[in-house]
Amino acid sequence: MNNTNLQNSTANIDFEFDKQHIWHPYTSMSNAAKVTGVHSANGCELTLSDGQVVIDGTSSWWACIHGYNRPEIIDAMQHQLSTLSHVMFGGITHAPAVNLCKRLVDMTSPKLTKVFLADSGSIAVEVAMKMAMQYWQGRNKPQKQQLLTVKRGYHGDTFAAMSVCDPDNGMHTMFGDAVTEQLFAPAPQSEFNQALVSGDTDELEAILIANHHKIAAIIIEPIMQAAGGMHFYSAEYLVALRALCDKYQVLLILDEIATGFGRIGKLFAYEYSNIEADILCLGKALTGGYISLAATICSDEVAKGISDSPAGVFMHGPTFMGNPLACAAADASLRILQSGDWQQQVTQIETQMKHELAEAIEYEHVKNVRVLGSVGVIEMDSAINTGALQQAFIELGVWIRPFGNVIYITPPYSISSAQLTTLTNAMKTIAADITQEQSSADTFSNG
Ligand SMILES: *Cc1c(COP(=O)(O)O)cnc(C)c1O
Repeated sequence: MNNTNLQNSTANIDFEFDKQHIWHPYTSMSNAAKVTGVHSANGCELTLSDGQVVIDGTSSWWACIHGYNRPEIIDAMQHQLSTLSHVMFGGITHAPAVNLCKRLVDMTSPKLTKVFLADSGSIAVEVAMKMAMQYWQGRNKPQKQQLLTVKRGYHGDTFAAMSVCDPDNGMHTMFGDAVTEQLFAPAPQSEFNQALVSGDTDELEAILIANHHKIAAIIIEPIMQAAGGMHFYSAEYLVALRALCDKYQVLLILDEIATGFGRIGKLFAYEYSNIEADILCLGKALTGGYISLAATICSDEVAKGISDSPAGVFMHGPTFMGNPLACAAADASLRILQSGDWQQQVTQIETQMKHELAEAIEYEHVKNVRVLGSVGVIEMDSAINTGALQQAFIELGVWIRPFGNVIYITPPYSISSAQLTTLTNAMKTIAADITQEQSSADTFSNG
């Protein structure tokens, strides 16, 4: 697009209308947060509506792992768009869904064989919870309908997903009785790459001992609790969790919506532990960030239990289930992943971030600096005012969106070394500049 067109379309963003009429994630309509206009994107860069180019440190919330405008994904989508953009999935199938699900069954652990295509991450979590509940109905234990999870988790914004989000900082209190009461154990304390701290699963086991007769499943984000503050925990914790699930006969649901597809150094985070889930949730990077799609994959045993339940069928079927356009994008994105380049890219990003971010630990208000795979985190000693800092990041030429007390980046795997340095420099500049007055309470969310 030439410059004249860019200027025309700039004039076309009606910011005042946006402010008056359009909700953005986790915002107020009476006190609208400032929004930045984006005109286009290419590679790892966003072109803002005023013409400024910034490096994207977020991959559009974990999703855009291969960068914007990847010809392989665009070609696959354009071909699909002109062949079959959408058709109902009830009683119908198509190659994009079949091809994608073949790859998903291949890529994930052997036990995971039955794929449910959902519209978004939150829905994939709803589907996983329903699967677990229907499974026990089919195993003559209909009282096993509750979920057990750990604190500091985040699993989405719909009602069932909210019920397993962190009970203290999540959305439980806001919606009162409408949010199903679930069971919560303490968040894992054992650090990543370290042994299980003695006693770390004791409270969880005590809850299982007292309640296993009514627990359908444990749900957890493996290795990294993302929206709950970007904490990395020990793989041995997952091993212990799997053993407890087996011992007390509850299913294990792994929510890999943020961690899946290479983000933290393994194709799936559970690979750090060699355990298998009974049900796995995928989303965010599934389509390479081009269009919404998610998936819930379960074992043969879970699928059989659902068939044996009174309903005899799995009771879920969204209108846009298996959308061909989204499946074609996901299939193309997974094809890029399967070429294997991501592994070296993520390792390089990790090495460079470790090197460049390390010095930030010396700054006055920095509490912790940590890196795993392509996730780089500077944790401050108190909450950050995201709104106030957004413009400062843009002035430094980057798009980075802190939340809670963390400044973090999750860049596209295709980022260049020079672009990554610009991102880490911006993180350090802001972290060094933050004074207590700039901090303010922020909501708990990936917003
Ligand atoms: C983002 C996220 C979700 C919710 O996905 P949406 O597509 O936003 O509904 C669920 N679980 C985890 C771990 C996530 O990071």
